Amino acid sequence: MSTQQEKTNAPPPSRLSLRRHWGGDQPISFLMQQGVANPDCISLAAGLVDQGSLPAREVQAALQEMLADDHVAKRALQYGTTHGNAELRGQLLGHLAGLEHVGVDQLGVDVNQVILTTGSQQLLSIVGEILLDPEDIVLVAAPTYFVYLGTLNGLGARIIPVATDEDGMRMDALEAKLEEIEAAGDLYRVKLIYLVSYYENPSGVSLSAQRRAESVAIAQRWSKSQRIYILEDAAYRELRYDGPELPSIWSFDADRQTVILAKTFSKTFAPGLRIGFGVVPAELERPICDRKGNEDFGSANFNQHLLSQVFRMGLYDSHVAGLREMYSAKRDAMLHAAETYFGDIPGVSWVHPHGGLYVWMTLPESCDTSLDGQLFREAVQTHGVMYVPGEFSFAGERAERPNHHMRLSYGVQDAAGIDLGMQRLAAAVKSVLAE
Ligand code: PMP
Repeated sequence: MSTQQEKTNAPPPSRLSLRRHWGGDQPISFLMQQGVANPDCISLAAGLVDQGSLPAREVQAALQEMLADDHVAKRALQYGTTHGNAELRGQLLGHLAGLEHVGVDQLGVDVNQVILTTGSQQLLSIVGEILLDPEDIVLVAAPTYFVYLGTLNGLGARIIPVATDEDGMRMDALEAKLEEIEAAGDLYRVKLIYLVSYYENPSGVSLSAQRRAESVAIAQRWSKSQRIYILEDAAYRELRYDGPELPSIWSFDADRQTVILAKTFSKTFAPGLRIGFGVVPAELERPICDRKGNEDFGSANFNQHLLSQVFRMGLYDSHVAGLREMYSAKRDAMLHAAETYFGDIPGVSWVHPHGGLYVWMTLPESCDTSLDGQLFREAVQTHGVMYVPGEFSFAGERAERPNHHMRLSYGVQDAAGIDLGMQRLAAAVKSVLAE
């Protein structure tokens, strides 16, 4: 789908909508099916969190407290509001202030600019829905979070990839793209720059502090007659194991009009609660809430009460501290296994992430990692290991996307599983390269 003609006038291929057609298949479902079909396969693909670490005891304690009071329990079981539970939103502002090392009154937003959503995925999706018409432009890192590429495709957006290096999206490349777009007369179409700011899924890199400041300056400078927003996806912020503690991109947006901050409790607490939130510019509060109201009235009130209780009982921070320790050991296990099993394969390199859940590995260009390539088949069927093909994380036509990368996750497997999975994967790579 490359022209507006195709996007707006092409007849749907079936009774399904054009949006369904644009969005295409979601690779996650296919990968999950592969896992089910090959139960002995070690999945280094799944982006899920470590099951053993989930806060069952904390949730039990908070629930007990919450349900003990009949009045509170019944309020939690009632519909909530579209913005979400006000007490939790206040607590989240307090938490954000702690991360940014400022007082709540210095944040420059009020509690109504905090909107609770069903996972941060819903916020990302709604932001796309309220801002983008078909053919509107979103600039993204190459590579970036592949699920959001599917969301944006489904809205008919034009997704323009911007080159990255070990410090994330290159700001010179971003400006060069904006210049190209302006020269083509399409600047008015640019609505959004999407940045996963910490330990990006899939590449593991973080935008440097300098680039955080620059990205805001660029968005503001190029908002010539109409605003260009930055959507900062800070899903992995608190999963920091080492390396510098970086301020958010949002913190550089002095007037709070440019950056939409998306956060989630899926990685730091429990994805099953499906709680994410946005801190949004004042002018987007209404459009986002209206859209959300039309979709679901509001997210699960019960879960929000529960999380609020978790904060009230002081159970959150200690849980996150434990997660950091556990994941950093798993990160080390994967990096150690990479060195052990891939160290002697020429042309293979990988990123050392300071946080998050992923190691991004680059293979020689001759080694096709794509879903229908030989490596994926051999890895899954012969060697019993699965990875996420790098091709999904790049915007653009399939034939033009780089296809010699793998996203490897240490989220689900324990240290032994990580080691065995990496050993199997290296054997698969060696066998493909030997042919
Ligand atoms: N952003 C990024 C970068 C992610 O990796 C994920 C989950 N994989 C999400 C957003 C969405 O997660 P959730 O909806 O569970 O908050």
